[in-house]
Amino acid sequence: MSTPEAKISPIPAYVEAVLPVPLRRAFTYRVPEEMRGTIKLGARLMLPFGRRNLTGYAVGLHTELPTDVEIDELKIKDVIEVIDEEPLITPEILKLTQWTADYYASFWGEMLKASLPAGINSEKVRPKRRKAVRLISGFTDDLEKPLTDQQQWIVDLLTSNGGTMLFTEILEQADVGASPINTLAKRGTVEVYVQDVMRDPLAGADFPDRDEFTLTSEQHEALDQITTALEKDAEFKAFLLHGVTGSGKTEVYIRAIQNALDAGRSAMMLVPEIALTPVFSRRLRTVFGSDVAILHSSLSPGERFDEWRRIRRGDARVAIGTRSAVFAPLENIGLVIVDEEHDASYRQHESPFYNARDVAVMRAHLAGAVVVLGSATPAMESFYNAKTGKYTYLRLPDRIGGRGLATAELIDMREVFKRAGKDLALSPELLEAITETHAKGEQVIILLNRRGFSQFVLCRTCGETLKCKNCDITLTFHRGDNRLICHYCNYREKSPKICPHCQSEYLYFVGEGTENIADQLAKKFPAIRIARVDRDTMAHKGEMEDVLLKFAAGGLDMLVGTQMIAKGHDFPNVTLVGVISVDIGLGLPDLRSAERTFQLITQVAGRSGRGTQAGKVLIQTYYPEHYALRHAREQDYEGFYNQEIKFRERLGYPPFFVLASVMIKHRDHAYASKNANILRRSLDGANAERNARILGPAPASLSRLKNEYRLQIILKAVSRKALRTTLDIAVADAEEHGCDLRTVNVEIDPVNLM
Ligand code: ADP
Ligand code: ZN
Ligand code: ZN
Repeated sequence: MSTPEAKISPIPAYVEAVLPVPLRRAFTYRVPEEMRGTIKLGARLMLPFGRRNLTGYAVGLHTELPTDVEIDELKIKDVIEVIDEEPLITPEILKLTQWTADYYASFWGEMLKASLPAGINSEKVRPKRRKAVRLISGFTDDLEKPLTDQQQWIVDLLTSNGGTMLFTEILEQADVGASPINTLAKRGTVEVYVQDVMRDPLAGADFPDRDEFTLTSEQHEALDQITTALEKDAEFKAFLLHGVTGSGKTEVYIRAIQNALDAGRSAMMLVPEIALTPVFSRRLRTVFGSDVAILHSSLSPGERFDEWRRIRRGDARVAIGTRSAVFAPLENIGLVIVDEEHDASYRQHESPFYNARDVAVMRAHLAGAVVVLGSATPAMESFYNAKTGKYTYLRLPDRIGGRGLATAELIDMREVFKRAGKDLALSPELLEAITETHAKGEQVIILLNRRGFSQFVLCRTCGETLKCKNCDITLTFHRGDNRLICHYCNYREKSPKICPHCQSEYLYFVGEGTENIADQLAKKFPAIRIARVDRDTMAHKGEMEDVLLKFAAGGLDMLVGTQMIAKGHDFPNVTLVGVISVDIGLGLPDLRSAERTFQLITQVAGRSGRGTQAGKVLIQTYYPEHYALRHAREQDYEGFYNQEIKFRERLGYPPFFVLASVMIKHRDHAYASKNANILRRSLDGANAERNARILGPAPASLSRLKNEYRLQIILKAVSRKALRTTLDIAVADAEEHGCDLRTVNVEIDPVNLM
């Protein structure tokens, strides 16, 4: 259908764009005459969408309306504005995000949005601009009107500062007002202009000296293999660097990055959310100077934006960061490192779902780069890939300097209970070890996987526990602010004095959290300087950094905290690590709970005895015979792997089967249930050839969260292709049968099944 008017107008230009909405398709827009030729692929565009305007991303350009678009030409809307003249998104990142969205059955537009620094589309994040003054070279003095003393002073000041200064700097130093500067500008002596200033997250920090040591022969061998692979241009290769804690993996990474730069390529290193220690960032700055950009969640949006822009401009060729840094716009990337590759923080837990570790491998693959996955406790999947030859296996079996691994002991809390005749949170064994360690002037870390004061509140009269009103979860008591808090939705209420169910006064606080343990320790050891490290105490930017730096400098004797302190840090004077109630992890109904517990204990043991003194780890548990604990005590990774992999095979879990978790969520239970049942029928229809096993719908382990009921369907298939085909056909079919897809959330390769 076309009108006479459309026939005589010149051929319109069209742009295909994806938007940050949960829709799989791209949309076509007309480019108004005046914007023709200004749009490049990857640019952000302001686009009308329904009744709203949204920021979309240009992913295709057409001189004519694409013939496969079944759309009435007259209904096509115009682009409102081209936001970026130079696209923010490079062709490589366009391709990578498209692959990622497809792999995770997710949405390209949402993935592109997630790939850019948070807040970039809002007015708040802007380049920081300051007024600056520049001496105009070769200016000629106006002899008729010689410079005043003040003016001469300013010219001299500028000259001695290399000719350029910030406006405010001159005002501060010269003790003059703005007028002599403005007069100088009028007579053409100086120029006042606006300068882009980069916000530096490490501004004002002290940097350590660079360590210059000779690599051990194992480090040398590992680096050699990585470098040889790097030198083969545009050839993908994946390594698993399995090195015990303190074996010098970081040093291998740093030298490999150096070699990549020397070969004229850029490099990226991903680190877990919490392991990006202040000490580590500083170490990288010492080595790479302004060639390194840092991207992580505790930067201010402005700092993050500036670090990101330095990468985009090619001013920083090394990008270090957490999860979303996998999309950093580095060009000509030669090396991708994923440190602590098993870490759960690489997984994005809300839409768009992705695992940065797996995206990193694909990024290297697409770019013909080398990828190094490093860990002391590789993920089951990664070790399996190394065993089957998909990854090249590199091993650093020993700690640097012949230091032994910390010895670990299990403390059987059932015995402690028998001896004491009551439940104790801190065993006499642990208390004694703390006393001894402190007497030697050495430091202690106490780990507990639970924030707050108590785990839950129980009424002794009616037996009810106090639960969140939005979730099927018990509330945690936080004594500091006398509140009960839901750790899932952050619902808070004042701690009640009487039971809301039966009005009884006998409320009983069960199970200790970090707050309680830190209190108990402070009472028992008044002379020991203790800091608590968890999300409650470290809520503000810089707090965590301050405490860790203080601890590293010996200004604190003990850290008590959640797993935030378990990983990555290097505190040579820590010789005792105590783990309180490790059993919480083992009790979770999840496919990875044994693996998680094993990893956590091995990691935390790695914090002990990193210096010249031998380290010790004490683990309190009610299940000392559990295989994850026994192997963790022996620090026997392969022993654990061999046992766990058999369970995985028997139960049909990764790496043998590919999983998808489909969550159907709604405030109305009946509505969720109706949609889940339609989807299940469609899945059965799509699975006529029985390529996948389908379980559910059943209430999820967390059956109600944030006011929504959650029903879960689990799919298991022998191949990724079978899984996706079944899923895609079923979802389309379910929609035709009236399933409301807004209630359906698909997660491919879920990290947990809760
Ligand atoms: P990992 O990353 O495997 O836990 P690190 O790279 O942090 O281990 O190394 C542990 C400690 O040993 C660090 O203090 C590091 O500076 C030091 N180190 C690393 N390599 C060497 C070496 N070849 N010689 C001497 N010390 C080293
Ligand atoms: Zn009660
Ligand atoms: Zn809640």
